Amino acid sequence: MKHTPLVEKLIQSFTCLPGVGPRSAQRMAYALLERGRDDGRGLAAALNAAMDGVKQCRRCRNYAEQELCPVCQDPRRDPGLVCIVASPADVLAVEQSAEYRGHYFVLMGELSPLDGVGPRELGLDVLEARLNEGQIQELILATGTTVEGEATAHYVLDLAREAGVSVTRIAQGVPMGGDLEFVDGATLAQALRGRRPFSS
Ligand SMILES: [Zn+2]
Repeated sequence: MKHTPLVEKLIQSFTCLPGVGPRSAQRMAYALLERGRDDGRGLAAALNAAMDGVKQCRRCRNYAEQELCPVCQDPRRDPGLVCIVASPADVLAVEQSAEYRGHYFVLMGELSPLDGVGPRELGLDVLEARLNEGQIQELILATGTTVEGEATAHYVLDLAREAGVSVTRIAQGVPMGGDLEFVDGATLAQALRGRRPFSS
């Protein structure tokens, strides 16, 4: 049996979501049609509102609903400190640590020339301009440790050096409460290289 055109279109639409294959998409579509018509209308309205209303912050490229995101608008944050992250989800992760009171710059990806992601796609020209404004004292690199993450980190390092801004990188290594025997070799090697003096 084939789906009717509207149902088919609905199922197809759900498959654009990460991790959703045809079977899950069909289950979602049926669930909404069978007993969630109001939820479905709410979902459609929320999707429309977000797709039209969520923009990127002019200063840090994180998601924002005004010109500037809440972090860039907050006068209590330290503008001399900027943490470079790959995605808005990484901003949330750092915010949840409640340790950080600086600003961010969100790349929305990592350098990957083969996929057509170059410095411009990551807004690195915007970052360069910000570095040259002279307000930033320290860049904290919190990009990933994949090949793309490393390439991105080195590109940013060069930009910062040219602007005379110091660069630090978040420590990588053994997770809290983690057992050493389950940590992979590359992570452990990184943790050893990043070791610090130990005191009580
Ligand atoms: Zn911002």
